[in-house]
Amino acid sequence: MADVKLTHVKKIYSNKVEVLKDINLDIKKGEFIVFVGPSGCGKSTLLRMISGLEDISAGTLEIDGHVVNDIPPALRGIAMVFQSYALYPHMTVYDNMAFSLQIAKESKEDIDKQVRKAADMLQLTPYLDRLPKALSGGQRQRVAIGRAIVRRPKVFLFDEPLSNLDAALRVATRMEIANLKDSMPDSTMIYVTHDQVEAMTLADRIVLLSAGHIEQVGSPLDLYEHP
Ligand code: ADP
Ligand code: ADP
Repeated sequence: MADVKLTHVKKIYSNKVEVLKDINLDIKKGEFIVFVGPSGCGKSTLLRMISGLEDISAGTLEIDGHVVNDIPPALRGIAMVFQSYALYPHMTVYDNMAFSLQIAKESKEDIDKQVRKAADMLQLTPYLDRLPKALSGGQRQRVAIGRAIVRRPKVFLFDEPLSNLDAALRVATRMEIANLKDSMPDSTMIYVTHDQVEAMTLADRIVLLSAGHIEQVGSPLDLYEHP
């Protein structure tokens, strides 16, 4: 439910290497955008800057028309799903998903509603009472996605969410993410991967990153069928 705009965005780490050079991109509300590129091209850095986990060295990042360069991560209306699920090992699936809402002091009824809705969407209802260690890798990653959904973020960020899964789980979880896009058409999703197949199946628009700059932007058809 937000548009995300990057204008002349740069990232220079303390070693003075410019890892992102001059990123200009307008991501529309509700769009599913996928950044693709080889390891080391700056995908993760870009996502971390949008999330607020990493400072922006130059340029502006706007969300919903507001410059958010100096706004802390928790206030940006963003949720991030990482490569490794980072679930709380001693909490059940339910509590893992409920935790951030409990911290935010939402009512028990609202929390229950959000958690059950997300569990239903991700086919996790039968597992709500389990601990993460009693789940498969794919189920764990769905819990991590569920934790993001319950917060009803304006923007979802995904950092290679499938890369730690084996091939079969990768396909199944990719389909869950595609369903997510259909059931939450107003949410803006920004997804990073080095996998072309993921990009082609999920993206409305693909951004090809290469050595810190945008090489090409287009629909999957534009980029891969008529390159
Ligand atoms: P990708 O996600 O595409 O693999 P990254 O964003 O992780 O790329 O990294 C982009 C470049 O920035 C790489 O050359 C990487 O070594 C460098 N880099 C990443 N994090 C840091 C850091 N904290 N300090 C210095 N260099 C970094
Ligand atoms: P497997 O190889 O059987 O999939 P993992 O090595 O991924 O198992 O996980 C072992 C245990 O560590 C599990 O209980 C899992 O929930 C937990 N775990 C995995 N990744 C993380 C993480 N990033 N943060 C916290 N706990 C994790």
